[in-house]
This record gives sequence, C-alpha cells and structure tokens, in this order.
Amino acid sequence: MSQKDATQGNTTLVNAVDQPAAYTAQDRWLKMPMAEYIADYRGSTRVRGYCRECSRYGNCWACPPYDFDETALLEQYTTISLLATMITPSEGVALTPETADLIIRRERQRLDRMLLGMEQDIEAQAERTTLRNPQTAMSSGANAGGAPASRAFFAGTCLLCPPEHCTRRDSLPCRHPESIRPSLEALGFDVARTISGLFGIELQWGRPDAPPAYLTLLSALACSRQD
Ligand code: SF4
Repeated sequence: MSQKDATQGNTTLVNAVDQPAAYTAQDRWLKMPMAEYIADYRGSTRVRGYCRECSRYGNCWACPPYDFDETALLEQYTTISLLATMITPSEGVALTPETADLIIRRERQRLDRMLLGMEQDIEAQAERTTLRNPQTAMSSGANAGGAPASRAFFAGTCLLCPPEHCTRRDSLPCRHPESIRPSLEALGFDVARTISGLFGIELQWGRPDAPPAYLTLLSALACSRQD
C-alpha cells in the first residue's frame, strides 16, 4: 500500500536566453514497499530498449549497461520513497527547449543535493544504531558491512560533465563516483506510468511549435528499513 507524504512548493528564477524565467517547483513524496513498486512498474526489457536508443547508453557511468546485478541492488531495499517534482512556468514564460533545459539543470542540482544529503543522514543514523546495538543492526542488515542503508535514484542521466567528456567513453573511472546515481528508468522502471498511475500527473512532451505547460521529474530514495 502506498502512502502519500507532504507536498512542498517553491518559486525560483533562472536566467533564460533572453529574459529571466520564473517557475514554481512542487515536490510530492509517495512511499511504498519496494517489492510492490518492482512488481507493478518495472518492465526492464521494454524500457531498456528506450535506453539503447539514447546516445548516453554505454557512454555515461550513470547509465546502462551496468556491471552489477540491477535486480539484486533493488531487492536490498524494503521501501522506496518516490519524489515527483512538477515544474510550472510563471505566466508568460514559455518552456522552450533552452528554457526547459536550464530549469531542469537547476532543479536537478537542488534535488540531487537533497537526496544525497538524505542518504548521508540515513547512513549516519544506521551507523549510530550499529554502535548502540550491534545485534539489531546485523539482523536488520542496515550498515552491517553490506549495502548502504539507503540509495538515491536521480531524475535522469548524469549532468556533472559535458556528455562528450564523460570518462566512460575512454574506459576511464568516473570523475565524481560519489555524486552519481542511476535513474529509475535506467533500472527498468516505467517513469511515465509511475507518474500517471501513482501521482495522477500526465507527462507532457511538448513540440517545437507547442511547448509543454509543465515539466515533471521523478527521483527516489530507497531504504533498507521500514521506518
Ligand atoms: S561525473 Fe562525469 S565522468 Fe562521471 S558519469 Fe558523470 S559525466 Fe561521466
């Protein structure tokens, strides 16, 4: 059973090509069992097909194919908190591809930083539990020398280096391995169906002659404990 959490909104300004562009970003959280989310919204083969058509496939360390077992990674966690961020431009602001790109980058910085901070907080809490009660921590699996107690999933590919400069193209290690996370779609989840089915928001794609009315980003935080 999924559980809706608090909704938060904030208004921000970015410097678009020819004028400042204001928008509102509204975050909505929804927590549910990981097993239920996998069963209902993961269809690796079809979604992976979309990834294969992308130029970042095999050319970015945050993107597939991966050198780890994706299903085993996901099954380490008992819950997933999905975060849908709905971005609505202020009146008179058009979501042209350039403006949308600026806004998405700005929001990704905010969201990625927030999720990595939450990961660290949960890990620190798990470490304190281990120190206080090693038996409990071992039996729960949290921070017992195994998987991290939580794991963030970002709303899209890595934006830290220009795509053409990602070190994966040269088979060299990532420059910022501590700051990259896979996206839900990269792990086979149907993001469009998640957003419509669980949040009641229809994704808008837009066309050159008809920009979308809003943008939606989907990130998440998986946890290995029920609390
Ligand atoms: S941080 Fe740079 S090197 Fe690492 S995955 Fe992202 S683009 Fe590639």
